[in-house]
Amino acid sequence: MGLNDTRLEIEEMIRNDDLAGLLRRTALIHGHHCVGSAMGVIAGHYAMKTRGVAENTGMEHVIAIVETNSCFSDGVQMVTGCSFGNNSLVYRDYGKTAFSLVERSGRGVRVSTRPDLGDLLKARNPETQELYRRIVNERDATPEEEARMMELNKRHCFSVLEIPAERIFKLEQVEAELPDYSRLLESHICRGCGEKVMETKAVKRPDGYYCIPCSGEGYGQLDWAGIRCGEDAG
Ligand SMILES: [Zn+2]
Ligand SMILES: [Zn+2]
Repeated sequence: MGLNDTRLEIEEMIRNDDLAGLLRRTALIHGHHCVGSAMGVIAGHYAMKTRGVAENTGMEHVIAIVETNSCFSDGVQMVTGCSFGNNSLVYRDYGKTAFSLVERSGRGVRVSTRPDLGDLLKARNPETQELYRRIVNERDATPEEEARMMELNKRHCFSVLEIPAERIFKLEQVEAELPDYSRLLESHICRGCGEKVMETKAVKRPDGYYCIPCSGEGYGQLDWAGIRCGEDAG
């Protein structure tokens, strides 16, 4: 054990292949149990085990590159310990249920979902699939239907944990291009609103610095549809 025992419980779960424990932890940030977050847990565990990594101090020595911002990525975040807040999570807007676990050297593994997986999972749980589609696409479900879906989903996703990772995912060795370690940045006070803004985001005008909203410049936004810029965002 190192000096940093913050994630001791998670590390033990990774070493002991306690996927159910990892999924329960994931629900702390994800809010519910679902197949997508379960897949993220399986993928995160698969990659960590393959690389022989369990510890992550959140100091950017281990980086996760996620290719989707769906449920899957919350499982990846909880298991790997890579998050936006600790600058160890890189988001690539590919819309693929896949992620890479990469060490500082750039070497790592990419875990991606096998295309025949949908049939494999659907066959196990047709009622949930149908309910979920209705709830998400039509948004007219009753609270009872939503509760029923949550309950079915919860049972189903724990059973998904029993499927061997190799059946769900393809794993390949990769060499990834990583951003440098983060560095501390200066801030400027916006002349419009008086709030502090990170220097890389401050807009320089002849009379001083402005934040993005005060300057009227376009901004990027990550939401359910992916990264949107400027006019399209919001
Ligand atoms: Zn979910
Ligand atoms: Zn401002």
